[in-house]
Amino acid sequence: MPGSVPAYTLTRKRMKNVRMVVRNGTGEVRVSAPMRMPQRDIDAWVRSKSAWIAAKQAEALEHPAPLAPGAESDALRRSLAPVLESLLDEWVPRMGVPHPTWRMRIMRSRWGSCNKTTRTVTFSVELARKDYHLVEYVVVHELAHLIEANHGAGFYAVMDRHLPGWREHRAELNGRQVD
Ligand SMILES: [Zn+2]
Repeated sequence: MPGSVPAYTLTRKRMKNVRMVVRNGTGEVRVSAPMRMPQRDIDAWVRSKSAWIAAKQAEALEHPAPLAPGAESDALRRSLAPVLESLLDEWVPRMGVPHPTWRMRIMRSRWGSCNKTTRTVTFSVELARKDYHLVEYVVVHELAHLIEANHGAGFYAVMDRHLPGWREHRAELNGRQVD
């Protein structure tokens, strides 16, 4: 006797194979399936992944749900903005770089990014939850990209000169890249 099918929400897409994700925070199972795949085949596929789903759901419930636009992210922006402003005021002259245009965004996999051409630096809203020295590290990292676009030897030399402890900070921010 086959077991029951775990609950899931289905989206039909123009795709060749079934895909499934388990969402952090809720453990919700989302399945994307090709337009013409019969429902019973999708059910059978999901059922065959029951053990994987159970393991992923246990893991997902230990992780916070991703930040969404709303009151919480607005509050994080309000607390982070003055910190970024004062860090930029401190580090822009210290590093001798042009003052960038900067903004905060909800970022899924990175703490920050920099477009050297447009001199635009983007910071993750969730830096508001991090200790001051880690926000500082991300600021210095992004400003260093105004000098060196890529993560080459020149870039790391700039980091070593201005923030010798940066490797420890990077390790502390593990899980997401500082780009
Ligand atoms: Zn970088």
